[in-house]
Amino acid sequence: MTDFTHDPSRKSWVASASGHGDFPLQNLPLGIFRPRGEEPRGGVAIGDEILDLPMALAQGLFTGEAEQAARAASGRSLNPLMALGKGSRAALRRRLSEILDGAGPETAMIKELAPRILHHAQDCALELPAEIGDYTDFYAGIQHATNTGRLLRPDNPLMPNYKHIPVAYHGRSSSVVTSGTPVRRPQGQRKRGDEAAPTYGPSRNLDYELELGLWIGPGNAQGEPIPVAEAGGHVIGFCLLNDWSARDIQGWEYQPLGPFLGKSFSTTISPWVVTAEALEPFRQAQAPRGEGDPAPLPYLWDDADQGNGAFGVDLEVFIETPVMREKGAAPQRFSRVSAANLYWTAAQMVAHHSSGGCNLRPGDLFGSGTISGVERETWGSLLEQSAGGRQPLALASGETRRFLEDGDEIVFRASCQKEGFAPIGFGECRGRIAPA
Ligand code: MN
Repeated sequence: MTDFTHDPSRKSWVASASGHGDFPLQNLPLGIFRPRGEEPRGGVAIGDEILDLPMALAQGLFTGEAEQAARAASGRSLNPLMALGKGSRAALRRRLSEILDGAGPETAMIKELAPRILHHAQDCALELPAEIGDYTDFYAGIQHATNTGRLLRPDNPLMPNYKHIPVAYHGRSSSVVTSGTPVRRPQGQRKRGDEAAPTYGPSRNLDYELELGLWIGPGNAQGEPIPVAEAGGHVIGFCLLNDWSARDIQGWEYQPLGPFLGKSFSTTISPWVVTAEALEPFRQAQAPRGEGDPAPLPYLWDDADQGNGAFGVDLEVFIETPVMREKGAAPQRFSRVSAANLYWTAAQMVAHHSSGGCNLRPGDLFGSGTISGVERETWGSLLEQSAGGRQPLALASGETRRFLEDGDEIVFRASCQKEGFAPIGFGECRGRIAPA
């Protein structure tokens, strides 16, 4: 369902939006920003600028449903907007597209308001877009699950439940941080294979995980599962998510109850919510299940979801080491992979999560699970790239890496491209490792 807001020929009067790699007029992602010395509030990324929603509201630029949505997005978090239905969000998008249109009936009048309603993004801090009540991390990257499972069980990498259940664990929302926040190397119990007993100290195997983040909208009442056919509509937007992982702490602690301190020290997300509406042109059919794979139980299966419930998002991982920074060398790309490699759709994750009666709430965050493809250049973690640390990677700078070292910075980027539509991106998800 695309409309005029996706028309690639339309341009904004905000000059930097034309051909912008992430935020052209066709994207319009929402976030919470803070101009220097002022209070945080809702905004929209457009080129290198941010449209100030409360200021635009005060100028009387919204009416009706769009006004209701703009008001809900004007405070210190987007939770009130996330609680609204699809109709209000779509109305907001249509009106934002008109406001920022470079060739509309109101363009001349609105351009006059630019000094009052626009901020240079570089002069603003970006905050978490929502108060995250709960964060759940899935494991839907089947190639990642296969690659990591193979390190432990070479002959039988996937657990028997994998193709029946969208496997997940409940993560920690308190330590989700926005792009650019330093990530302190965690301390914890770790025990190498050659050690008789665990010791407490800084993680020696610190890793990243390349994931897509899913923002939950209206949610459900406790005890009332969301049917899979409706579940996709409960994902109102997407971000990039780095599920930092201390592999040594994780490896020692995870049995039998799953990840705990090896994951909970920090999770970094990109600050802009790329809306489900913006991604509409990039929907695609879910990749067919492998030959011989079991059919999912009916509560996880919807033909329409299988037909258009996947997203053509290309994700990239870059590393910048202190040596690269010193030399002025460009960050090195570790991997590039499509989100089409996910084995479960967003709708299946929502349907499964709520199927037992658990209530989801506006502003809840899901991680997709690490996204990897088949070839090495598509693997989404160092655990995979260095074969559990046994095969250090040679970097172009002459350095090697088993896992991350202090000062290393990991940057995720993502974009969507499709013939006949303007490419859009997600902005950065960046984090630098600080010493323990
Ligand atoms: Mn993860």
